[in-house]
Amino acid sequence: MSLFQDTYDVIVVGAGHAGCEAAAAAANMGSSTLLVTMNLQTIAQMSCNPAMGGIAKGQIVREIDALGGYSGIVSDKTAIQFKMLNKSKGPAMWSPRVQSDRMRFAEEWRLRLEGTPNLDFYQEMVSGLLVENNKVVGVTTSLGIKVRGRSVVLTNGTFLNGLIHIGEKQFGGGRAGERAATGITEQLLDFGFDSGRMKTGTPPRVDGRSLDFSKMIIQPGDDVPEKFSYSKETSPLTNQRPCHMSYTSPEVHDLLREGFDRSPMFNGRIKSLGPRYCPSIEDKINRFADKDRHQLFVEPEGWDTCEIYVNGFSTSLPEDVQFKALRSVAGFENVKFFRPGYAIEYDYFPPTQLKHTLETKLVSGLYFAGQINGTTGYEEAASQGLMAGMNAHLKVHDQEPFTLQRDEAYIGVLIDDLITKGTEEPYRMFTSRAEYRTLLRQDNADERLTPRSHKVGLASEERLVTMEKKRKQSDNLVKFFEHTSILPEEVNDILKERGSSPMRQSDKMFKVFSRPQIHLEDMKQFKKVAAYIDEHSLERDVLEQAEIKVKYAGYIAKEKANADKLQRLENIKIPDNFDYSKLKSLSFEAREKLSKIRPTTISQASRVSGVSPSDISVMLVYMGR
Ligand code: FAD
Repeated sequence: MSLFQDTYDVIVVGAGHAGCEAAAAAANMGSSTLLVTMNLQTIAQMSCNPAMGGIAKGQIVREIDALGGYSGIVSDKTAIQFKMLNKSKGPAMWSPRVQSDRMRFAEEWRLRLEGTPNLDFYQEMVSGLLVENNKVVGVTTSLGIKVRGRSVVLTNGTFLNGLIHIGEKQFGGGRAGERAATGITEQLLDFGFDSGRMKTGTPPRVDGRSLDFSKMIIQPGDDVPEKFSYSKETSPLTNQRPCHMSYTSPEVHDLLREGFDRSPMFNGRIKSLGPRYCPSIEDKINRFADKDRHQLFVEPEGWDTCEIYVNGFSTSLPEDVQFKALRSVAGFENVKFFRPGYAIEYDYFPPTQLKHTLETKLVSGLYFAGQINGTTGYEEAASQGLMAGMNAHLKVHDQEPFTLQRDEAYIGVLIDDLITKGTEEPYRMFTSRAEYRTLLRQDNADERLTPRSHKVGLASEERLVTMEKKRKQSDNLVKFFEHTSILPEEVNDILKERGSSPMRQSDKMFKVFSRPQIHLEDMKQFKKVAAYIDEHSLERDVLEQAEIKVKYAGYIAKEKANADKLQRLENIKIPDNFDYSKLKSLSFEAREKLSKIRPTTISQASRVSGVSPSDISVMLVYMGR
């Protein structure tokens, strides 16, 4: 008798951030789903920092939430501190971030998945895929068990042929204390896939009881914390745990340098590229030799545990060197280690081998999501998992694919960058990667995405109703500002206080609010505004959104117009089997790259590196445009 039902709709391999979202999405949409992972005890493990969100990543978490994924809810429920980053900049840059309780984060995910209908679990290593006629039909496990599935989502993270480095020691592993996964890379290479190697690293974890926090600078959370999820299921924190900050020094750098000859980074043992924007401490002191100190963020790993994450001290130097150097940091003089820092090298698959749905071009029904695609970060992984899970479900139920465009979501930018440009170093999201960041704000992800996700059956009716209420209320408030006049004597005192020129005659409130010096708190001082807010019981998110809609109306309209212009190119489809070799007026490089990437629209073709505006003109002429 078989351990498993006949054939699953979707089999998800790996229960990291990508795998959890993929499994939840597919199961919630109605697919019979199996989540196979090497260790059920490490579901949704935060391999590196105990935090979710941050610049551009916070927007992604809100997008996942708006689509009906779980990362936002889990993050809210297990947060120990909340900060809205970049609040001093324009709202396009505001980015929510939480410090998380690592153990509760993983537990909350597991319990949520256990409460998800249509979802089965199995603990074992998947060692191969079952493929018939270029179509995936299941997986095989290391015990030789075959499980049939109509689609498979691979989310192996850093586990494929993972190799851990600490100083001169190196050993196989997918993460500290966990073994590497073998078999899959080799089989995919046989199928004709390309693979590469990447590297990432993590800092030591230390015992908080051995630290002297009085020598550090306290880093509290926001006075009025917000939250990730648009749903009513979670609430902002009422209590927070602070982080701390300390600095390295020339003495610390000298101690670290003593270990450079034993560093796998410098003696050539690590060959692959690591995340440029998350360098190791040895990399930082080597590359920025003129800097005599670097910031260290001392982050608690949870509400109750004394374990501390030393953010900024990622390293693969020998453990004795790490220890000696850290003991010279202010507040760390008596530090005790829980675990040393380490680096890991792993296989990834260049994501240009994928379609916008994250399905592979070579094997039908096979999807890749997360670190396996060359990205880094929980948020990047989770969002890909969600999209792969949704698309796997849609495909096996013969429904249209679900993809997001660059002007709709950071997730759209992420996937388009990956599949169009590829990546040779771990890819993380930045606001600068998005050309329409005034449209892609953290406050409006629900407006952008919930209706689309609801339409294909993931975001719930309740989410849609909540979103529509918020949108209506903020639009009505903007209309109120547009139509309500205010007299100079009502407003001039505040204008003077804020250094804004006085009004000479009555004007619409919208005009007053549009002035850069005037903020929501000022507007609330006007009786008519206060009465309107009171009468309609408007909550903070509605007020903030109305403020953004007023203050950035010009920018938003301009970006929308630009996005609409580009949409015309997005609408010009390129046939699947288009033969670029016939178009001799294309540059050689464009012919080669376009034949490899096989963009689906002229707009995507224009983003392929090496394709020039004149190549696009040639294609447009050929297509009769
Ligand atoms: P993972 O979270 O790695 O999860 C993979 C899952 O798949 C695991 O549950 C594993 O057990 C399972 N699995 C793998 N192979 C198989 C198989 N064959 N069969 C069954 N199950 C399998 N991110 C940053 O943003 N910044 C950093 O500085 C950073 N540093 C990192 C340092 C280290 C040492 C590590 C390990 C990761 C680091 N990360 C960092 C990356 C971050 O952890 C990942 O981006 C994120 O966890 C990727 O999510 P994922 O779901 O793709 O994979």
